[in-house]
Amino acid sequence: MTDVPIPARYRCGHVHEPREPATELDGSCTQFACPACQLALAVQQGKNTRAYVNMQQISTGMASFVIEISEATAVLGELLATQGFARSTPSQDELHPGNGLAATLAVIWRKEFQFAVDIHPEFVLALMEVIKNEVRALSAYFPAGEQGVSFMAFPGDDAGLDHLLFVGQGGMASLWADS
Ligand SMILES: [Zn+2]
Repeated sequence: MTDVPIPARYRCGHVHEPREPATELDGSCTQFACPACQLALAVQQGKNTRAYVNMQQISTGMASFVIEISEATAVLGELLATQGFARSTPSQDELHPGNGLAATLAVIWRKEFQFAVDIHPEFVLALMEVIKNEVRALSAYFPAGEQGVSFMAFPGDDAGLDHLLFVGQGGMASLWADS
């Protein structure tokens, strides 16, 4: 007799199909209902869950890519908490990040990927690839799917620290679009 592998299942009972490329999400997402069930819940609750990926100046010499998720359901929030996201207020722009202190106003989930601004561009591009894979995996939980992901945008509005850092390459938006 050969062993038939037992498929991993989400809490809701649906089978977990690992994504390619794998992301950290695969490790803990089966503790929760599957993307389709969570998406149905979001629609039922009238939530247009969205991700905003942007870059912010954290301190002199340090910048950070930031993923901000708005209008997450409570269960998606629990999942995001297992992925290094924390509750925060929405960022206004690249110089005015949200913060986790104003708890009553903390309506988004925030995750930072910090780097030194003088680091090699290859590292920054590799980091962008990791972040893109992560938000694509998360977009399976959004009613709008990948259309619910905005790069170089803020829950409030757009901005342009990238213009300072990436002026020679046509701005960050084109770099996100390239690969
Ligand atoms: Zn399900």
